[in-house]
Amino acid sequence: MKIAILSRNRNLYSTKRLIEAGEAKGHSVKVLDPLRCVMTLSSAEPQIHYRGSKIEGFGAVIPRIGASITFYGTAVLRQFEMMEVYPLNESVAISRSRDKLRSLQLLSRKGIGLPVTGFAHSPDDTEHMLEKCGGAPLILKLLEGTQGKGVVLAETRKAAESVVDAFRGLNANFLVQEFIEEAGGADVRCFVIGDKVVASMQRQAAEGEFRSNLHRGGSASSAKITSSERAAAVRAAKIMGLNVAGVDLIRSNHGPLVLEVNSSPGLEGIEAASGIDVAGKIIDFIEKNAREGRTKTRGKG
Ligand code: ADP
Ligand code: MG
Repeated sequence: MKIAILSRNRNLYSTKRLIEAGEAKGHSVKVLDPLRCVMTLSSAEPQIHYRGSKIEGFGAVIPRIGASITFYGTAVLRQFEMMEVYPLNESVAISRSRDKLRSLQLLSRKGIGLPVTGFAHSPDDTEHMLEKCGGAPLILKLLEGTQGKGVVLAETRKAAESVVDAFRGLNANFLVQEFIEEAGGADVRCFVIGDKVVASMQRQAAEGEFRSNLHRGGSASSAKITSSERAAAVRAAKIMGLNVAGVDLIRSNHGPLVLEVNSSPGLEGIEAASGIDVAGKIIDFIEKNAREGRTKTRGKG
């Protein structure tokens, strides 16, 4: 099969591993920089041109779309979907997962365990919202942050109010969340493919830090997960409509809570911590599932 990887950089660990795994299983793998894909729309067939030549003959596309290029990247992916190329994750599911509030709304509707989360517009409602989330200490998060960058811990009510004012002053969208202190800066990343957690790892925040992101100096180790954690991760990915997802769970004293569902989870940390060939499992999934035009939305979402 001809497989396209939408990635800005062929030297990134995850991209390299997917090329390796695809080629090892006899596929032809081509990396396309989404920002160099030219889309043409007309009453005839939708087309993509890449550095002067027409894209055709691909059986599947693996999106590795960074948060900074979500708009253009998902548009390119949608174009592939309209051309009936099988997407590992669909464009609508990726767009959905990039908005933390939208994701939590969908998960909450289906009864997935979540930290109590609040969202309010008016400064007149700040105090009430902070109270509803259990009062300080509280977490405040930008809706479209990644790698821990937009996540702040406010230890006191005054600090929380200041951060809320600052975010509002910048016109930034954010949510407020109960701080799960008992997790001690740790969370569990479950790597979901289809209806299975194929690998998991525990991430521990660096000394003096509450965010466990590897980009924030967190360290990863292999993790054993419980059957309820496994079930929560698989359900969360399914609710988001993602075939492949990195589901982050935090262990609270009332069970596992979903923090977020990542649509382009990195492979480096998880392969190192678990010793599992996750890239190979992604290619296996594509082999089993890729069919022409097999998407829920065909780019219509
Ligand atoms: P990002 O998309 O930036 O990774 P997350 O929501 O995953 O944002 O938060 C980053 C990290 O911050 C998490 O991995 C976790 O370690 C910590 N964290 C986030 N929310 C909470 C919370 N409600 N309670 C405790 N720690 C949290
Ligand atoms: Mg995260």
